[in-house]
Amino acid sequence: MDFAFDNSFLYGMEGFYAPAEAVKPSAPKLLIFNQALAEQLGVDTLGASDAQLAALFSGKELPDGAAPLACAYAGHQFGHFSPQLGDGRALLLGEIVAPDGARFDLQLKGSGPTPFSRNGDGKAAIGPVLREFLVSEAMAAMGVPTTRALAAVATGDRVQRARAHPGAVLTRVASSHIRVGTFQFFAAHFGADHIVRLSDYSINRHFPDLADAPNRHLSLLDRVIGLQCELIAHWLGVGFIHGVMNTDNVAISGETIDYGPCAFMDRFAVDTVFSSIDANGRYAYGRQPQILHWNMARFAEALLPAIHAVDPAGVEEAKAVVEAIPDRFRTIWLDRMRAKLGLGAAGDHDADLIDNLFAELEQHRVDFTSFFRALAMLLRGDGAMLQGLLPEPDAMAPWIADWWAQLEREDIHPRERADAMDAVNPLYIPRNHQVEAALATAEAGDLAAWTTLLEVVRNPFVERPEWAEYAQPAPAEAAPYATFC
Ligand code: AMP
Ligand code: MG
Ligand code: MG
Repeated sequence: MDFAFDNSFLYGMEGFYAPAEAVKPSAPKLLIFNQALAEQLGVDTLGASDAQLAALFSGKELPDGAAPLACAYAGHQFGHFSPQLGDGRALLLGEIVAPDGARFDLQLKGSGPTPFSRNGDGKAAIGPVLREFLVSEAMAAMGVPTTRALAAVATGDRVQRARAHPGAVLTRVASSHIRVGTFQFFAAHFGADHIVRLSDYSINRHFPDLADAPNRHLSLLDRVIGLQCELIAHWLGVGFIHGVMNTDNVAISGETIDYGPCAFMDRFAVDTVFSSIDANGRYAYGRQPQILHWNMARFAEALLPAIHAVDPAGVEEAKAVVEAIPDRFRTIWLDRMRAKLGLGAAGDHDADLIDNLFAELEQHRVDFTSFFRALAMLLRGDGAMLQGLLPEPDAMAPWIADWWAQLEREDIHPRERADAMDAVNPLYIPRNHQVEAALATAEAGDLAAWTTLLEVVRNPFVERPEWAEYAQPAPAEAAPYATFC
């Protein structure tokens, strides 16, 4: 098996990480391997047996050219600064360059303690590993920027949480693992020279077009803010709630990273929170844009020494870029919402239309995902799906009439518009009740339900009759859903 590692972080960023080793699992067993992703990455696994894959993607054997390390980072967790976090249960095996030239980190998650583990065991239980695999693949299929999952391997060892669970290791693929918290670590412990080095590395790796900008660190701030605005607008569009938007979980690449207690909204409510540790709702669905703003202010603070070193006037500009975030986000989010509603060109009434929509969805407790598919069905002359989502048939009639009137600004055939809407509004998402059921049977040793659900959420947009149950909203009597990390 050939990985062709090219470890730029290892050789270029000494002092920004600590070498580390995987704990050897006692009986690694391959749960799943993402062959399509392997091919995209140019990882040649031809002829590799499941046992070989299990050994490589659990830390039992090191692939040739791997030089495992744990990255240092800090982070604001629920608003409080922790000066030292770091990869406590993750190992960067190395970087690979795909045939198209794109560079990716290959990381094991759950392969045992590192110098940054503090009191943690460095391990992962099978449930969270399969949840991350499933949700990150669903996000990728929906077109949301995300880290990917290459493999999941059961270790054969037990992991102690509230009770003992089978252990597993996830192989995560990311454009990089540089986080806002990476910048915060070096801003907190070292001087401007470290921030300049990290910023230059980031620019070179992710945004080489910024290298010659007048103040490249300011341009980095601006670029990352733009990507984060796009990302959070994407999340809101598919009803995704990350659950732990701490600054150590914000990748500067703009990819969704660190799937812990994340979940998708069922019935619409802006204050929806699933995470059992988010008691104050800091990371609720509708607060994610404010948190994005807050997190980017922390990123700006960490970058300031570098921005200032190039040009002291850059500090004021950085402030302005951060202050502009709410407007910048809203513009991107409105575009996304318009697409969901089948509206092309912008109109003066759009913001009201969308605000009113959310009030209606919340009042009538409408399933968020299904609603947009039901609108497309209405355009096709079939109102049954919409009626099935509402407490009584006419509950949203005035809003529907308003929306319908807005559609008339463009002369597009209703069927064509409906098809365009279906291409951006997923029908199949990882619904909480389905995910829970699939994870429970998987933990008990039967992967069939989880594997089917994975296949479903990898094909989110095109309806298949045999998948009807996967498009169903959560049963009305379902207990409030809580996630744990
Ligand atoms: P998270 O909440 O998953 O973003 O993790 C926050 C911090 O805790 C990171 O530094 C993780 O590496 C660390 N961490 C989480 N779980 C464990 C664990 N089981 N063992 C060691 N460190 C962990
Ligand atoms: Mg994290
Ligand atoms: Mg985590």
